[in-house]
Amino acid sequence: MTIAVVSAMHEELAAVLALMPDERRQLAGGREFWRGHLHGHEVIAVLSRIGKVAAATTATALIERFAVREIVFTGVAGGLRPGVNVGDVVVADSFLQHDLDASPIFPKYEVPLYGTSRFESDVTLTQRLAAAAARALPGVPVHRGLVISGDRFVSTTAEARALQAALPDALAVEMEGAAIAQVCRDYGVPFAAVRTVSDRADDAAHGDFTKFVQDVASAHSAAIVAEFLRATS
Ligand code: SAH
Repeated sequence: MTIAVVSAMHEELAAVLALMPDERRQLAGGREFWRGHLHGHEVIAVLSRIGKVAAATTATALIERFAVREIVFTGVAGGLRPGVNVGDVVVADSFLQHDLDASPIFPKYEVPLYGTSRFESDVTLTQRLAAAAARALPGVPVHRGLVISGDRFVSTTAEARALQAALPDALAVEMEGAAIAQVCRDYGVPFAAVRTVSDRADDAAHGDFTKFVQDVASAHSAAIVAEFLRATS
């Protein structure tokens, strides 16, 4: 059964694709799914594109069309909690949509009719991914905890502070994870996500974002995915 590797941006996935010797392109839902092998596993690598809807569509296609057995996301995020610095790695234990607010009918952040605002990642898969990250990137801090998602590139100090005040346990902010977590919960498919911190979601976030993703984050993603698959039986 196939393991899916998902990223939001081309730069994030390019280094992973470069590791696959035999990938073949298959189109579905307007996306390119790259099927091949890595460390003896059947793998599908795919660009979700940026944002929650794009991520949810991708996850649904992976499950319905390709019957993947687990989904791993690799990419970048903005660090929020003090001490979550550029270059660090964040592995999500749970996800929340910080831009979802159906109050007063439902509590702020709660996903209507799910009775919760937080979606857990799969415990075993997450443990394996965090261990792979630690082995692949010795000396790089690996943080575990809440990752928040929304359809906004958070790039002002004011917004980063407001998110920190509202959700003090949030380690990092990105734009896809909580959407995939919700789809995976609906289908009962294990999901785990690892992100390299590309910025601090502040006024400087735009600065060298693209260069960082190309130079550092893509190498992180490839190293982590390779080690994760090497250690997977
Ligand atoms: N300025 C960039 C924006 C890309 S969107 C560009 O034009 O290419 C940012 C992507 O990286 C999303 O996939 C998101 O998941 C992640 N990300 C990194 N830092 C983020 C931040 N500060 N806020 C939200 N998403 C962030």
